Amino acid sequence: MDIALQQVEYSYAKGTPFEKRALYEVNAVIPSNSYTAIIGHTGSGKSTLLLHLNGLLKPTEGEVRIGDLTITSETKGKALKDVRKHVGIVFQFPEHQLFEETVEKDIMFGPMNFGVPEEEARRRALELIELLGLPSDVSQKSPFELSGGQMRRVAIAGVLAFKPSILILDEPTAGLDPRGRKEIMELFARLHKEEGLTTILVTHSMEDAARYADQIIVMHEGRSVLSGTPEEVFAEEELLSSFRLGLPRSVAFQRDVEKLIGKPLGGIALTEEQ
Ligand code: ADP
Repeated sequence: MDIALQQVEYSYAKGTPFEKRALYEVNAVIPSNSYTAIIGHTGSGKSTLLLHLNGLLKPTEGEVRIGDLTITSETKGKALKDVRKHVGIVFQFPEHQLFEETVEKDIMFGPMNFGVPEEEARRRALELIELLGLPSDVSQKSPFELSGGQMRRVAIAGVLAFKPSILILDEPTAGLDPRGRKEIMELFARLHKEEGLTTILVTHSMEDAARYADQIIVMHEGRSVLSGTPEEVFAEEELLSSFRLGLPRSVAFQRDVEKLIGKPLGGIALTEEQ
């Protein structure tokens, strides 16, 4: 299921004295089965953009097409619910939304609310516990007995339990230690590859964008100002720094990016690997 944004504009609190324009004429195509990273400085419109991708926000102008479904400012009710069936969002710190008394019940909650029979929901929960590399005995534990990384996996399982074909990740590794970060990013890479999930990652990490995405969209002051393969985007080093997106100065990053763009990166001072 591919996604296309055409001339998308969005203003918060439109028509009030607090009106705040957050997106201007955003055009983007996210092909089915791709892994797209959205990068940009704080306040550049990344979160506003991704809330358009599952119908939580509707464009003030322009349109968002998700497969056969089109969302405009006029779209209402059922059509927005239909979009949400296909698009799962893992928000920042998703574990804050865990609340059930057992892990299994937490994962089953969403699908059962959408009318999935209990047995089917339980089967999905157990499959996901395994797919996400959680120990099988967590199913009957309280989510709050788990480690931070495990809690995050349970919350991610709760999103996957809806069987989305598009998975949106908003800074999914925020607050994890380097090992936890790598594990979660490798998990999403595997889901993308093995389950064919169209994956959209909002991230501050140029390393993750370089390593995992096959397309990057750069946001700056509410506009999509640059997009292309990581090779194409990282080759625009000067332009990126004008958007306050300096390339990281680690040896590992230089190695990855030079491999991608097939030439040395100019002018960045390197620090040792962190
Ligand atoms: P990012 O995710 O890249 O940090 P956001 O999409 O959160 O950017 O924000 C884009 C712009 O919209 C910013 O100027 C921000 O202050 C503004 N904004 C975000 N959320 C709201 C809101 N609920 N009400 C008013 N303005 C908002």
